[in-house]
Amino acid sequence: MHLDEMLEFNKLFVENKEYEAYKTDKYPNKRMVVFTCMESRLVELLHRALNIQNGDVKMVKNAGAIIRKPFDSIMKSILVAIYSLKAEEVIVIGHHDCGMSQVDIDALTENMTNRGIDQETIDTLKHSGIDFHDEFHGFETVEESVSQSVDIIRNHPLLPKDIKVHGLVIDPGTGKVDIVTRDK
Ligand SMILES: [Zn+2]
Repeated sequence: MHLDEMLEFNKLFVENKEYEAYKTDKYPNKRMVVFTCMESRLVELLHRALNIQNGDVKMVKNAGAIIRKPFDSIMKSILVAIYSLKAEEVIVIGHHDCGMSQVDIDALTENMTNRGIDQETIDTLKHSGIDFHDEFHGFETVEESVSQSVDIIRNHPLLPKDIKVHGLVIDPGTGKVDIVTRDK
């Protein structure tokens, strides 16, 4: 199990006081929130490519960097970062070759039943109003998706007027970013 390797490593990390290189406080030095995809290729690359150091930003992630509802957990995290943690700027960063582009809902559902989820459970959820298409569908183009997420943040009734919200797309191979939309 990889967990065992991690725990082993962790013991030494703490013993050797390797944490000392990362000391900082809870307020983001760059006064920023970065909202991006859970993509594993970006775990380190995104930080390196944008020169983000430990303590620089609040980082929020989900599958696809998607916000579609104004009171989902992502939007709440962004609001907390602004009101409690002094963030003044929000950057949404989607990426090319994202797993959430063109999700096949039928294949996803089939994988669930193959992995032992009863069809009855799925039907019950559907009847109680959980629309699998609404819940799991991704996007056609990443630029469009980033724009939609940015629009929801910009137009949020609880967002202070002076907060800047930008949208970028990053290449998970090279780390190159392109601007989709930016506030001045
Ligand atoms: Zn992704």
